[in-house]
Amino acid sequence: IHLSKATFTISAPDIRRLPEDSGIEVAFAGRSNAGKSSALNTLTNQKSLARTSKTPGRTQLINVFEIAENKRLVDLPGYGFAKVPLEMKKKWQKALGEYLEKRESLKGLVVLMDIRHPLKDLDLDLIEWAAESDLPVLCLLTKADKLSQGKRSAEVLKIKKTLAQLNADIKVQAFSSLKRTGAEQANNVICNWFAA
Ligand code: GDP
Repeated sequence: IHLSKATFTISAPDIRRLPEDSGIEVAFAGRSNAGKSSALNTLTNQKSLARTSKTPGRTQLINVFEIAENKRLVDLPGYGFAKVPLEMKKKWQKALGEYLEKRESLKGLVVLMDIRHPLKDLDLDLIEWAAESDLPVLCLLTKADKLSQGKRSAEVLKIKKTLAQLNADIKVQAFSSLKRTGAEQANNVICNWFAA
């Protein structure tokens, strides 16, 4: 499996418009502006697979990328952005919630969090839900290049400690799209999920 084989399949406003629910999907979720699109581009080695934006809150669709036959990466709508109208927010969160609850082919969840602002309420809700659902999680602590090596390690340790209390399959990795920090480790985790 090579994530660089990713090709865009579809942008769906809700789960009814997604490809048939079979095979393996690895989904990416995170607060708006966490660096999800950048991480997807870095991991697939493609400059503009996922749309990165200076305007947070614009990726409201479920974007699907095929890696191989019946193996897909799924870019979920960002959550927690304050400055979008409530109605729109509700619609996106509905698509996100439905996907997480109903998608049988979902076998691994990548949760993107800015290393400087990790484990916000919605992040914890998501991670706790995954833990209870026996869904393996990879937390990517993004924009790691913004912290010194020392602060970065301290933050990773603290977050690992907090999440260890959930007693679930949760991995934590510092990540930088700018420097490719943690890209190989993340790639290995995701490819293992696809290989299962
Ligand atoms: P998304 O809303 O979660 O998809 O976030 P984006 O990938 O669009 O990134 C949001 C902002 O963070 C953009 O301005 C990116 O350039 C910036 N960003 C993303 N990843 C990194 C990173 O690894 N390092 C730094 N310094 N900035 C990043």
